[in-house]
Amino acid sequence: MRDEHELQISVHDRRAVDAFAREFRIDPYRLRRFRHALYQQSLDPPAALLEIPLPHRKAFAACMRFHELELQRRSDSPDSRATKLVFTTRGGNWIETVLIRGSSGRLTACLSSQAGCAVGCRFCATGEMGLLANLSASEIIAQLWQANRLLSENRERIRNVVFMGMGEPLHNSRSVAAAVDELLSTTGFQITSRRLTVSTIGIPARMREFARRFPDVHLAVSLHCVVPGVREMLIPGSTRTSLSELHAAIDEVVLTSRRAVMIEYVMIDGLTDTAEAARALVEFLGRLPVFVNLIPFNPVAGMQPWRTSSREICHEFCQMLRSAGYKARIRNSHGGEIRAACGQLANRSDATPLEA
Ligand code: SAH
Ligand code: SF4
Repeated sequence: MRDEHELQISVHDRRAVDAFAREFRIDPYRLRRFRHALYQQSLDPPAALLEIPLPHRKAFAACMRFHELELQRRSDSPDSRATKLVFTTRGGNWIETVLIRGSSGRLTACLSSQAGCAVGCRFCATGEMGLLANLSASEIIAQLWQANRLLSENRERIRNVVFMGMGEPLHNSRSVAAAVDELLSTTGFQITSRRLTVSTIGIPARMREFARRFPDVHLAVSLHCVVPGVREMLIPGSTRTSLSELHAAIDEVVLTSRRAVMIEYVMIDGLTDTAEAARALVEFLGRLPVFVNLIPFNPVAGMQPWRTSSREICHEFCQMLRSAGYKARIRNSHGGEIRAACGQLANRSDATPLEA
């Protein structure tokens, strides 16, 4: 027997829901109210459904699938600055979403775009899993919807979104672009474009495309160490792109985008924080008007025995970049205690990689 949910359409699939509403002649205004109830007021499905006119409500409810993801676990860090939500998809994959509370109380959601990742970075637990599946746009949107529903108990809401969870967003660019449309939509989540960041390992053609389509959304490039051989060692999936191609792509994005491009650089003791690495970075960046975010390495149990650069070295490195004329800062890390920090997202026990 087929699962009844398979016959339903995801409530987050705007095009399918609009088509359904047209067929049943549901007043577009009532549909807008329904989306407002879901995405702005974070109401639960029965409450949001009250916005659908009574004659159609039952049929509409029966055809909609509200639960794209099932929440399996929630962990909060001891200082309450990070919350990790572990979900399962309908396809049986485990994914993680992290909520981070800034010092001003501002809430950021770190969304996953894939279950696992094919890039295989040597410092990242997600990379170790290999790629299990691309997430659909609805599964990406559902992460934010479910997070907001939990937060609404305390009348809170996510204002910032970063695609820095599991996966390489530009390896799943179609779903990510559709999700970004929904996050920005005035009839969706209404996230302000300057509060939305997509982080990529740097895939030139996809970066150009993304910047043309979303010139107001921030793009962050995980550049890391550019000493010859080291980037390739750290990021095995980067070998198809030469550093000069990557430089040209960043240059073009800088011209297309109305936002500053962010460069992410992981600080690993004795490997990426050396004087040679600093010289190579400045040489690579040249005249690019970028903002450099230094990310102290978060050790991942069972992976490399590398250590985080000391605070002093991070500060020196940051100062060196500033003296060379770049904006730079050290990213504060939250969630290490609950394995929610950058690079620590993986559900290892359940990881079975897809065939490439
Ligand atoms: N796949 C994308 C986005 C997800 S990772 C990307 O790589 O850009 C988000 C950021 O966390 C990236 O800059 C990544 O390099 C960094 N990161 C991954 N593992 C890390 C670790 N163990 N310590 C610190 N930063 C890490
Ligand atoms: Fe994938 Fe990003 Fe992790 Fe690299 S750092 S393996 S690209 S998720």
